[in-house]
Amino acid sequence: MTLPVPADVLSKLKSVLGPDGWSVDPDRLAPKLVEWRGRWRGETPLLALPRSTEEVAAVVGICFEHGVAVTPQGGNTGLVGGQIPEGEILLSTERLRRVRDIAPVDDCIVVEAGVTLLETQAAAAEAGRFFPLSLAAEGTATIGGNISTNAGGTAVLRYGVMRDLVLGLEAVLPNGEVFSGLKRLRKDNTGYDLKQLLIGAEGTLGVITAASLKLFPVMVSRATAVVGLASPQAAVDLLVRAKAETGGGVEAFELMGRRGVENVLKNIPDTREMLSEPHPWYVLIELTSGEPGAAEAGMERLLAAAFEEGLIADAALAQNEAQAKAFWRVREDQSAGQKPEGAAWKHDVSVPLSRIADFIVEATAAAERFHPGSRVVAFGHVGDGNVHFDVLQPLGADGAAFSALRDEGSKIIHDLVAAYDGSISAEHGLGRMKSAEALRYKSPVQVETMRAIRTALDPKRIMNPRVLF
Ligand SMILES: Cc1cc2nc3c(=O)[nH]c(=O)nc-3n(C[C@H](O)[C@H](O)[C@H](O)COP(=O)(O)OP(=O)(O)OC[C@H]3O[C@@H](n4cnc5c(N)ncnc54)[C@H](O)[C@@H]3O)c2cc1C
Repeated sequence: MTLPVPADVLSKLKSVLGPDGWSVDPDRLAPKLVEWRGRWRGETPLLALPRSTEEVAAVVGICFEHGVAVTPQGGNTGLVGGQIPEGEILLSTERLRRVRDIAPVDDCIVVEAGVTLLETQAAAAEAGRFFPLSLAAEGTATIGGNISTNAGGTAVLRYGVMRDLVLGLEAVLPNGEVFSGLKRLRKDNTGYDLKQLLIGAEGTLGVITAASLKLFPVMVSRATAVVGLASPQAAVDLLVRAKAETGGGVEAFELMGRRGVENVLKNIPDTREMLSEPHPWYVLIELTSGEPGAAEAGMERLLAAAFEEGLIADAALAQNEAQAKAFWRVREDQSAGQKPEGAAWKHDVSVPLSRIADFIVEATAAAERFHPGSRVVAFGHVGDGNVHFDVLQPLGADGAAFSALRDEGSKIIHDLVAAYDGSISAEHGLGRMKSAEALRYKSPVQVETMRAIRTALDPKRIMNPRVLF
């Protein structure tokens, strides 16, 4: 439990932040104290709004000196509750908003932690370059949050996760010292790569204040298609074919089951069927290329070959940007579409790609056996071996009673993930939601090594104390 913060510490913090650098106004605090789905609510004695790395260092330094806990927060779009304080100082990065540099020759952009992902993409585009990380919350999610959760999203197949996109970091360590590592090098073999420790640390090893990120050439040709398939295995077979056909041109490969598509069509206005007949499974494929017309030609070749080999039952190639957006909308609204359907046990898991089709079939059977009538909605970045495996309450059932069984039901799914040599958190992190549960699946050596690193950097455990181990 987090201890109350002494009044003299609050005064010191207010004084280093200045009169407009903090708030205790309940209306100002309210949106930062609740997770977007309303699943976690929290409290804080002070919202700190530092404007610079120096102010972040001053705040964290005071907190370290007095053993006061701190929770960093970016855009508050995290899905495991790690950004919601429970009595800690809430340190928001909302005023760390500068794009510090764009260097096209270095293929690098340097942004502060509170710049949103969408703003980063736009700044790169203005300089004639491409920043590839993309996810549905990109208008609000920040670069600091993306790095701290090692975000994935829809372009991982081609460009990797956030960890692969960071060249350098600036961060305030738990003792208030500034780690200045804003290099923009592709090669730097001078010992431990310390920035990698902070990536995916969910705010437990310090506050990221800025990052230098990799940029890429703009892709001039892009083709988007939706295909209908009989099974998840057909999707994996199609992906293997697509990779071979395009020489690495597959940027997105997203799976959706019929039930998830039906939820979107039923519950989200202005959405429509993507193909003329319903299919048990769908894949949204996006191919890109730096050569004009190459993605479109590649997609036509791929779809023709896949039809011939009996891999797909039907396909629609987007004829314009509006149609491509309509396809993406059905994919991106999979979570929103299931919300009106009642309570759900949600799982963000990954297994080796070669085993994902078997996993989906076996986990669906296990969920239905454990709770007859429950409705599985499986969707996601299947090209990365990542599936969002959600189990919805039976139609008309008591949502609270179903939610009460979440831990038991999720254990069945997570045990199966472990049996498939997978991960119980593919891209959202552990946060408040899964930290305790993850202990079941990590070896003692893994847990002790992580604890040793944390203790070395944060002996008083002031940074996000309820998150990780
Ligand atoms: C609709 C929707 C779709 C999403 N799709 C995806 C997806 O496809 N892929 C994916 O990976 N995620 C996805 N997410 C999850 C979420 O968007 C990401 O986790 C995102 O990276 C969080 O960024 P944020 O700025 O909102 O961080 P927050 O939610 O504010 O914080 C997340 C964690 O990072 C820590 N943190 C934040 N900023 C800092 C900092 N500067 N220094 C240190 N620690 C910090 C917090 O303490 C917390 O533990 C989705 C979320 C939503 C709502």
